[in-house]
Amino acid sequence: MELVLLGPPGSGKGTQAKLLAARFGVPHISTGDIFRKNLSEGTDLGQLARRYMDEGTLVPDDVTEAMVRERLRETDAQKGFILDGFPRNLAQGEHFDAMLSEEGRTLTAVIYLAVDRAVLMSRLTGRRVCPKCGATYHLEFNPPKAIGVCDVCGAELVQRPDDSEGTVSTRLAVYDAETAPLATYYQKSGRLREFDGDQPVDQVTRAIVESVAGTDD
Ligand code: ADP
Ligand code: ADP
Ligand code: ZN
Repeated sequence: MELVLLGPPGSGKGTQAKLLAARFGVPHISTGDIFRKNLSEGTDLGQLARRYMDEGTLVPDDVTEAMVRERLRETDAQKGFILDGFPRNLAQGEHFDAMLSEEGRTLTAVIYLAVDRAVLMSRLTGRRVCPKCGATYHLEFNPPKAIGVCDVCGAELVQRPDDSEGTVSTRLAVYDAETAPLATYYQKSGRLREFDGDQPVDQVTRAIVESVAGTDD
């Protein structure tokens, strides 16, 4: 199972990727999560990525591509992967195709999550995340059982600094300019499968599983 999740910020890529990874027994690989981990650990990669993440623009392609290449070589990724947040522009998409063919791998599908712009804004500004285990919540749409506390590990939930209204606008503009053309790229090669991302989480998951595995049980 080799899937790419594509869609604007807030469309539910991370939420779906975690569920699909558990369902198919393959790793969830999120470039945003890897960058954030490097940032919190103060690595050179984290230092480099910080400026771009803070302003909501893309980390340079060569850095991101090298990071993904390395991650996909790890043992757990040999049986498949759910990629979330990569590729994110045409250059990364073309590079990724070359990378896959070098390694003799083929994408199962590219999952596109369609969600209206107004919904995205409220999803992103209401998103809360667990700094310890990476679980994602929403103040209104997916609240934790106890206010401000992670259901999974009990840590205190935080808001991502780039989920403030100003940075969200930049990220949506970056999506339109750089990531949207990638959907067209995958559509032209017959690899894109579009899903309505504005349904309950489990319904979205079910539709994707039915489409890629031909069954939902
Ligand atoms: P992305 O990884 O695409 O940026 P996330 O998976 O982090 O998106 O979801 C963004 C926000 O929307 C989170 O707060 C999440 O809890 C919430 N969310 C995700 N999927 C849905 C859904 N189907 N319906 C309502 N809210 C959702
Ligand atoms: P979202 O939840 O909005 O989809 P991510 O967690 O995927 O956000 O990404 C957060 C930030 O990490 C991006 O704004 C960008 O700075 C950086 N980033 C993540 N993936 C990539 C990528 N493939 N190429 C360049 N930058 C990336
Ligand atoms: Zn947690």
